[in-house]
Amino acid sequence: MSVIAFIGLGNMGIGMASNLAHAGHEVRALDISKDAIARAVEAGCVGAKNAKDAVESADIVVTMLPAGAHVKMVYGGDDGVFEYAQPGTLMIDSSTIDVADAREVIASAQAKGFDMIDAPVSGGVGGAAAGTLTFMCGGTKAAYDRAKPILDLMGKNIFHAGDAGNGQVAKVCNNMLLGIHMIGTCEAFNLAEKLGLDAQTFYDISSTASGQNWSMTSYCPAPGPVESAPSNKDYQPGFAAAMMLKDLRLAQSAATKAKAATPLGTQAEAIYSLMEAAGKDGLDFSGVMKLINGSL
Ligand code: NAD
Repeated sequence: MSVIAFIGLGNMGIGMASNLAHAGHEVRALDISKDAIARAVEAGCVGAKNAKDAVESADIVVTMLPAGAHVKMVYGGDDGVFEYAQPGTLMIDSSTIDVADAREVIASAQAKGFDMIDAPVSGGVGGAAAGTLTFMCGGTKAAYDRAKPILDLMGKNIFHAGDAGNGQVAKVCNNMLLGIHMIGTCEAFNLAEKLGLDAQTFYDISSTASGQNWSMTSYCPAPGPVESAPSNKDYQPGFAAAMMLKDLRLAQSAATKAKAATPLGTQAEAIYSLMEAAGKDGLDFSGVMKLINGSL
């Protein structure tokens, strides 16, 4: 059994940390929120007072933080992970952050002799609690192989996507595509309805024709056809539009640096930013239907 420092016990981190603790590891839980640490202790973790306390005796460090700035500070800042980690410590950052930030932090870790991977996830809060996340990992094969048994305790599908940062690449490219086909699906259902074709009939036809896609068949943004979809619960999340917008912004940042043309990704970001401007980005991302049909 390992000693694992887990830093960032928010909506996602709490479920992931408790799965590690339930598997018998000693999980040393750290967050800037005392309430978050208290919840982790209730879930079987050991509360840590500070980075030194969390990291000093750890074999593995896992982070689940809001954004790149937090990740850079937690690892490389004063009193950070790099300062206190023992030689040989494995570091796993599961936060969704800018590709360039991930590559920078991993390069710093490697320069100090640590194995580190980026391992962003999909599967949401439910997947984190159930231990069924998908992990998209970037880093050396050796670091990935060390991380895999730990990731298996928190996830169901674990992929090695290549070198450092490639986990983030997979994540932002996937979510850019998701944002684009969600908006396209909303447009199609809205147009069908305006032309006199009801959502269920259009669904029955299109879901077996070439317009079929995940946004339609698993998460239909028009109320009715997919019972479990947020559209049948007033678009309560699920996966909030604010989180989709975060990922679309990361995709645009990466596309700008790579000089990659992403005209539809750019549009998707602009459309989700209208939900933010309207103060409606707490709705599920399929709630972009309300923007498209004029009911936001
Ligand atoms: P969250 O805001 O609920 O949790 C982040 C936690 O980090 C908070 O408890 C916060 O107090 C803590 N934190 C911030 N700065 C810190 C610091 N310096 N030291 C220690 N703790 C610190 O966010 P979340 O929903 O758990 O998401 C975490 C990451 O996972 C994000 O990068 C997000 O994009 C990604 N993600 C989230 C979801 C989701 O459905 N929520 C799905 C996939 C990926």
